[in-house]
Amino acid sequence: MLQAMPVTMTVLASGSRGNCTVLSTDTASVLVDAGISCRETLKRMRAAGEDPAKLKAIIISHEHNDHVAGLQVLARKLQIPIYITEATYHSWRRCTKDPEGKPARLERCEHFHPGRSFSVADITVTPFTIPHDAADPCGFTFKACGIKIGLVTDLGYLPPNVKENLRNCDGLMIESNHDLEMLRNGPYPWMVKQRVMSRVGHLSNAALGDFFENEYDGQAAFLVLAHLSEHNNHPEIARESAFKALGGKTNLFQSASIMLAEQDKPLQPLTLG
Ligand SMILES: [Zn+2]
Ligand SMILES: [Zn+2]
Repeated sequence: MLQAMPVTMTVLASGSRGNCTVLSTDTASVLVDAGISCRETLKRMRAAGEDPAKLKAIIISHEHNDHVAGLQVLARKLQIPIYITEATYHSWRRCTKDPEGKPARLERCEHFHPGRSFSVADITVTPFTIPHDAADPCGFTFKACGIKIGLVTDLGYLPPNVKENLRNCDGLMIESNHDLEMLRNGPYPWMVKQRVMSRVGHLSNAALGDFFENEYDGQAAFLVLAHLSEHNNHPEIARESAFKALGGKTNLFQSASIMLAEQDKPLQPLTLG
């Protein structure tokens, strides 16, 4: 008899000091973003029970440092293909040097295109364009063993194409970056506040709450709130905002199934299937 195989998502790090998540099936795994050092990535993978030898690819969402800081070393060490759009790759190369001081290169580079799915082992990846101030930023859904997981952070708002892609997700990791009041009254210079709040900045608790309340289909068995600002948000404020927005809309949720991704340690592995 065919048995559903589990799919596991492990958030190794999330936030403006580094982002990295592992998606894995029984046979393969991929790393989404490489925003913490190679050493720390491998250390956190082992701590979470993920075998680095199972990694088949690294998939990059965009070239901001908190998503690529460990990329060059990880690519050299793991010798696996890096999936990255051409524009993101060139933008990354322009500001990254190799150990000899020349523009960095990736040995095994696969260029993907937003809107076109590709496969890594038994995982189908669908990248889609998100509104963010980078060269060619993308969110992703991952399908394996009949399970769909969405992963989207670093976006100023939720345009229709993103909402469309997030339909029918069994698991969802989504940005809940800042509380608007905390951001307005917080320590950032005005220019930075403007950038974060803009249409190509980061998603606020309120914007996410609006989506949860009015358009989200309530399908996911787990929700991970991600890329929380350390200065302009508080985990309990973000959780409360999401919980309230979901309240009454679906009975799938108890506060236990809303999780908060952390910056400095991996989140417990979340398994579906
Ligand atoms: Zn980021
Ligand atoms: Zn970014």
